[in-house]
Amino acid sequence: MSQELQLRDYPIPEEKTMKLLIKLMALVGLIIPGSAVLAETPETYQFPRKCSMTDAGYSVPLCGKPITKTPVVASDPGSDNLKVYPEYFIPDQEKLAADEMRLTAVGSGNPPVRRGQASTSWLVELGNGDKFIIDAGGGTVPALWSLRVPLALLDKLFLTHLHLDHAGGIFNLWDSMGWARNTPLHVWGASGSTPELGVAAFVENVRKAGAWQTRSKTGIIASGGMELTAHEFDSAKFSPENPRMLVYSENGVKIYAFPVDHILIGAVGYRLEWNGLSVVYTGDSIPTVFESEQAHGVDVFIHELFIDAPTFAEKNNMPLMIAENVIDEHTSAEELGRVFSIAQPRLGVGTHYFTNDYTIDPAFKGIRKNYQGPVVIAQDLMVINVTPEQITTRMAKTDLLSWAAPAPMNGPPPKPDPAPTEGRTPEWVQATRFTME
Ligand SMILES: [Zn+2]
Ligand SMILES: [Zn+2]
Repeated sequence: MSQELQLRDYPIPEEKTMKLLIKLMALVGLIIPGSAVLAETPETYQFPRKCSMTDAGYSVPLCGKPITKTPVVASDPGSDNLKVYPEYFIPDQEKLAADEMRLTAVGSGNPPVRRGQASTSWLVELGNGDKFIIDAGGGTVPALWSLRVPLALLDKLFLTHLHLDHAGGIFNLWDSMGWARNTPLHVWGASGSTPELGVAAFVENVRKAGAWQTRSKTGIIASGGMELTAHEFDSAKFSPENPRMLVYSENGVKIYAFPVDHILIGAVGYRLEWNGLSVVYTGDSIPTVFESEQAHGVDVFIHELFIDAPTFAEKNNMPLMIAENVIDEHTSAEELGRVFSIAQPRLGVGTHYFTNDYTIDPAFKGIRKNYQGPVVIAQDLMVINVTPEQITTRMAKTDLLSWAAPAPMNGPPPKPDPAPTEGRTPEWVQATRFTME
């Protein structure tokens, strides 16, 4: 049994008592159902807008419905044994089956971070209890926290490349130190063409930039979570004879890295395999036959999708020439259709897209020129459950003001190291501290 499942079997007593109390008060008429106290449960949260359909019949973004016409992809469409999931994924209320994989679009966008669409990050959760974060772009970590995964379990980050819309959230993720994560944050990624362009240098520079953070917290919280550990694999070892590299193999989970065509050496895609299920995520890339083949026959293929240059230029007040330079490093809708037609995934996911009401139909129109299989366009907090029988895509409802999930506790809480004595707040400032009765 996983740590998470164990935790869920033991609800916090105070929470239980509180819920009972609220129920009792509602029963005797002290609280009107739907009043402020009851509204603090995630189930009652409303999405900000009503659903409407695009001309082509897709739900508009941010209305609680996945952007697809195939929310359920059944291996045997004639089967009457398909699992029916709740309409929304609500954290704390749904256990992952032992043979199931859950993928969550923690962030589905680009730079700059938008209020309704953060940059890029995916959470992979497996029925064996393992959890992996792939990319942690700017603005994505609040959504990750809202999924109520114990923060101690969010210690494995795989970076596809070092653009900040994929890696810029690392400070927020690292900042879960002390919040029950008292072990290092592990970061996997590729080397670059020079040492300073690799993931090890990136991680070391993050650690150095956090000097004030870690020094100031020493003595207050345990130091174990202040560590960052880089696991850099050597990009120079990729070749036509060695096109992919096993970079993680534990607990029945295998993660392979392979190079993608995105400007510099060091940009990679990952293929995760576990228990007969698989997912490929390629980060950003100019589409290639090679990367498409790396995803061949995969259950879920998550691939970037980029908007057309004229719209990108107009909406971002950018010269068309610069917009074209940017999109030249990415994948258009027509190209994504071609990628999926080579890979033939059970479900294709277009992500890293600007999801606005008017951008959805052009995306599907482009994809459909080359591919007719099941496709969704990701938005933040879209959840995909994967089993051999079916792939089900829904949206999550999470508490915008959620607290940290209960932490697995093994033994006594770790003790902080001695606090630094040098460099503290000047004594003449400290001398004016209030004395409260
Ligand atoms: Zn990107
Ligand atoms: Zn990029």
